Amino acid sequence: MSKSSVGFVSLGCPKALVDSEQILSELRAEGYSISPGYENADVVVVNTCGFINDAIAESLDAIEEALNENGKVIVTGCLGAKDPLLMERFPTLLAVTGPHAKREVMRAIHQICPPAHDPYVDLLPPGGIKLTPRHYAYLKISEGCNHRCTFCIIPDLRGDLISRPIGEVLREAEDLISAGVKELLVVSQDTSAYGIDLRYKPELLDSKMVRNHIQDLALGLGQLDAWIRLHYVYPYPHVDALIPLMADGLILPYLDIPFQHASRNVLKAMKRPAHAEKVLKRIEKWRKVCPDITLRSTFIVGFPGETEKDFQTLLDFLDEAQLDRVGCFAYSPVEGAKANALPDPIDETVKQSRLETFMDRQAQISTAKLQAKIGRTLDVIIDEVGENGAIGRSKADAPEIDGVVHILGKPESMQNGEIIKVRIEAADAHDLQGVPSKS
Ligand code: SF4
Repeated sequence: MSKSSVGFVSLGCPKALVDSEQILSELRAEGYSISPGYENADVVVVNTCGFINDAIAESLDAIEEALNENGKVIVTGCLGAKDPLLMERFPTLLAVTGPHAKREVMRAIHQICPPAHDPYVDLLPPGGIKLTPRHYAYLKISEGCNHRCTFCIIPDLRGDLISRPIGEVLREAEDLISAGVKELLVVSQDTSAYGIDLRYKPELLDSKMVRNHIQDLALGLGQLDAWIRLHYVYPYPHVDALIPLMADGLILPYLDIPFQHASRNVLKAMKRPAHAEKVLKRIEKWRKVCPDITLRSTFIVGFPGETEKDFQTLLDFLDEAQLDRVGCFAYSPVEGAKANALPDPIDETVKQSRLETFMDRQAQISTAKLQAKIGRTLDVIIDEVGENGAIGRSKADAPEIDGVVHILGKPESMQNGEIIKVRIEAADAHDLQGVPSKS
């Protein structure tokens, strides 16, 4: 019996990417082949994103294309959580599931094309199938979120927080590292809430009791031979306890901590913690404990009701906080979000002009921060080796979202995933440039 073949389209954020990787790993483990195109696939899985309107449109286009090109289509992911809407629009879909639904997707695939019995089925690499380059991987530690930020529909799509047991997460991390991964990017909707649903229950692991808690998880991951980078850390007070682990070199001195705004009024309307002064004090403390820490954050401007004064408070916060990496979005309504019902929406031109002002201000801060690195020698992980140089990232740069380090010089001996020393010689607002260094 020949192997059945499954086509796969993966859209959305790193959490969705991890779902795709888990389904692909299971498919390979069961002997399916993965089809590079639509024409030879027995069925096509489309993993969708339902977060903002652009992402929804992209997902709908992908479903339509798969239906036109192949016809046998299963939809999974965040947009799948809006099941009735999808089935109404595409009545020929074979199955629709929400996110984090490997079992349901596999069940649907089994019904359409059962796995072939093959005693010589391909051996699965220990780290499973990865969609990222071989040297870094996303490690999803939980699913869902207990917060109810008014601009966000993720809790409606993915439900309340469910953490994976710490033993399972650490085992996956070990497997990934033995498969060649050098950098693990810890992701979830709310990384610092890890274990809350498990009541931080202790587990016996290698004759030691460890709690299902972000601090113990970071400690456990920190013992492994890889860079560990924490993303999507909600600013709970216990985040402070992670900073000494960064200062000790156990995990990367990098904190991706979305603050979203600084004005008390806007934060209250967003249903986010509203203590900008406290945040500034905490940042100061973190920098004392770990002077090399890189702080990355995201903000929303033009949220309903944001006044000029609120916006100025945000700019003042930026000046004081001197964050290293910042992303900013002009608020756009997401279907189903509570914020849509808030009064005083902001005019589109005002939103765009605030976005530009914000990004200009941050570009100045970022440029100065990167300029200060000129002359320093940094550890850099190589992402891509070319003819005349290589591209890598320092500990301050997460893949896809931060800057890079352009490495000049003859890179014959360099390989992807290798960590080398680079002396920094130039910088702009986003990236660094340097040459390999022995010390
Ligand atoms: S913490 Fe993040 S995922 Fe949770 S509701 Fe707020 S924005 Fe959405």
